[in-house]
Formats: sequence, C-alpha cells, structure tokens
Amino acid sequence: MHRNKKAWFSQSVSRHICDIWVTEGGIITNWRSADFLFSNDAAHPDTQRIFESLEFVEDKATVFHASYLSACEESGLKGSVAMGHFLLPPSFLHEEIRAAIGSFIWEQQSPLPPQQEKRPIPEPGPNEVLLQMNAVGICGSDVHYWQHGKLGDFLMKKPMILGHEGSGTVVKVGSGVQHLKTGDRVAIEPAYPLQNDDFCKSGRYNLSPKMFCCATPPYDGHLSRYYAHNANYCFKLPECVSSEEGAFIEPLSVAIHACRRGHVKLGSKILICGAGPIGLLNLLVAKAMGAAQVVICDLSSARLEKAKEVGADFTITVTKETAQDLALKVEAALGCMPDSTIECTGAEFCVHTSIYSTRSGGTVLLVGHGPALVSVPLLNAAIREVDIRGMFRYCNTVWASLARPAFIAHP
Ligand code: NAD
Ligand code: ZN
Repeated sequence: MHRNKKAWFSQSVSRHICDIWVTEGGIITNWRSADFLFSNDAAHPDTQRIFESLEFVEDKATVFHASYLSACEESGLKGSVAMGHFLLPPSFLHEEIRAAIGSFIWEQQSPLPPQQEKRPIPEPGPNEVLLQMNAVGICGSDVHYWQHGKLGDFLMKKPMILGHEGSGTVVKVGSGVQHLKTGDRVAIEPAYPLQNDDFCKSGRYNLSPKMFCCATPPYDGHLSRYYAHNANYCFKLPECVSSEEGAFIEPLSVAIHACRRGHVKLGSKILICGAGPIGLLNLLVAKAMGAAQVVICDLSSARLEKAKEVGADFTITVTKETAQDLALKVEAALGCMPDSTIECTGAEFCVHTSIYSTRSGGTVLLVGHGPALVSVPLLNAAIREVDIRGMFRYCNTVWASLARPAFIAHP
C-alpha cells in the first residue's frame, strides 16, 4: 500500500469512491505535489484546468481520468450515473488499479489549481517602462488578499493581480523616459504618490493621501509576465545584484525605514519582537547600521534559529511569561535595557513588551499591524519618556539598499 503517497481528488470524483478507498495511509495534498491525481470526468472544467496545466505537475503524478474508467465500463464493469458524472463504485475497479492506488485518508477537497488568466500586454505611458518580470516575492499581505479579499480598510471589489515585491527587465520605454533603456534590469518601488503635494515636497511621499500601490485595491500588482510601471520608481540594478535580490529590495526597504525611524545607530542595543521576514530584515539592517547588539524574540524557535543564523546576538523564545517578565529577560540578555525596540508582530503582548523593555528616553517603533484597537501601557511610556512611533511603508530607501549589495547578498 502507498502509505506515504499523496493524492489529489478533483471535484468530479465522488466522495463515495473516496470514502471507500480512503481508509488509512497517504495524505490528501495540493494537486501540484501529488503522486496521484484523480478525476473521472475529462470534460469537467476542474479536470480540464489540470490537464491544461499539466506542465506544472511533477513527473511522478499519475492522472486517472474518464477514459480509463470508461474503459472499465466497456469491459463490463457497470457504473452508475450521478449528477451528470460518470461514477464507478470501487468494487468495480480493476484490481491492478486498486493495488496501484492503495488507500488514502480523505480530509477535505483540495483547493482548485490557480487559474492563469491571459491579459493584454500593457502599453507603457510616456513616463512609464514596460517590464518583463524576472522575480516577484510573495508578501504576507498578498496571501491575506488571496485568502480574505481584503486587508484592513482595503477591500477588493474586483479580481486583482497580486505582487508588490518585484524586479524586471525593461522591454519598452515610454517617450518621456530618459534614465532607463531596454535591457536594463530594475527593482520596482511599488508605491508612489499620485500628486506632488506637501508630503512629497518635504520628502515623506509615503504619507501622501493619494498613492498608487501595486496589489493594493484598486490597483493590480506585478505577479504577471509583463507589467508597466512609473519609470521614476524603477531603479536600475547593478550587475552584482541578482533579480531575486532586486525583488527583495521592497521588504528590505521596510526594514531600512523602520530602523531609521527607530533611531538605530552605531552602538545601539536593540530588541526586535518577531522573527518573521520583516523582523529578520530589521535585524540585518540594524546590524548594518551599526547596532552593537540585537536580541530578538518570537514564539517560534524555528524562526529564532534562522535569526541566530543571520546574526542575532541573543534570541528569546516567548512562552507564557508576562510582558514585564519578558522585559526582564531582554535586560538580562543585553546587560541593559535596549535603546530601541522594533515591534514586528502586531501582537498586543509584544506592544506591551516593547514598552516595558525599552530604556527610559528610548524609542518603540511599531512596524507590525495588529488589531485596530489595542491596549497600551501608556503611563509607563509617558513617565519614562519612551517615544512610541509608527511607520508606513518607506520612502527614499532604494539607494540605501543598493548601496550595500554585498550586505544584501551575504548577510
Ligand atoms: P510574519 O507573520 O511572518 O511574522 C510575525 C512573527 O511574529 C512570527 O514569526 C510570529 O511567530 C511572531 N509572533 C506573533 N505573535 C507573537 C507573540 N505574541 N510573541 C512573540 N512573537 C510573536 O509577518 P512578517 O511578514 O514578518 O511581517 C511582520 C509584521 O509587519 C506584520 O504585522 C506586517 O503586517 C507588518 N508590516 C508592516 C509594514 C509597515 O509598513 N508598517 C510593512 C510590511 C509589513
Ligand atoms: Zn509587503
């Protein structure tokens, strides 16, 4: 039997069949990584979609489809008809195929494979470049839009292309663009102001109330083959920076902006709450900006292992302690309270920890997005002059990230 095999069942396969095949052993999985794909109606749209996408299926996958099952019927194994689908009770299945299939646990219908949509290649406007995309990172917010159709106040009202961490190669240049030419590889800054207002004039364009941002409703992102973007927000990559690293400049920018606003400087002692991608990037940037010691905490010890690997001086696994107790552990690790805390979880507990941990006169910088309303030990911060600061995306960070390509490539 195939205890460790993984199976994917199309919606055209009856639950009834699965219930009997599926007793113990293998697991239901995503169709892309399945060892076996099951479908008994070749005309069903789900099945069609898989057949069209078969180039993505690993070689080992086997598709049992209508033609095989129909052949069973022709050879005298009579099936029944349900909901327009051809359905065979398992007892009628050929012994060989039953042996090959083994038994599987039926947990739930796996999600349908993502459908690729063909869209016209955009024509760049006078101040735009058309890019052939090279690399696009997937951010937590992309996953959130995909699963929930909204993020905070941003609600998707129509289908939206995801992706805002990208790099591409210029394939067409708008008539007014001077600084880029075809063949240039660029990093995309995905958010830019739509008007030249006071925020832009004062260098804080990320705060402008009218912003374009890739993959933020109503604007499409660039997880596509071709994408046209404002050329002023495309930055030519030096040869030593790969396209993948170019795509990484977007989340790296979040960390550069956070560390700037968090007053990280030469010799600083820093606490970072959260060892997700944003927390880890803050760790790298804090070190690059000269932080003497960085302690990072998380619930996940696996994530903290990664933090150690990329340079954390101390890691603390959060268990069931109070925020005040955690603050004491932070102080014990560093030998003093941190000058600044960069909060990268959004969890209320970590907001509390950030305030209790930070030394008097220090800075708490809130990167994480949590619930709209959270409780805050405000008096503690107020009487110790701990500044609580926020941040939104970033501005003027791309050259800083490109100024340290070796740092990006080899943390
Ligand atoms: P992530 O979910 O991958 O990482 C968050 C980490 O926090 C996880 O490792 C998790 O284990 C840890 N965590 C959660 N609750 C905790 C707790 N109670 N104690 C300790 N650790 C805890 O997210 P990410 O991609 O790294 O992003 C981090 C945050 O930054 C998110 O909230 C995201 O929305 C936000 N963000 C903000 C901006 C901005 O402009 N302000 C930009 C990008 C991301
Ligand atoms: Zn993002």
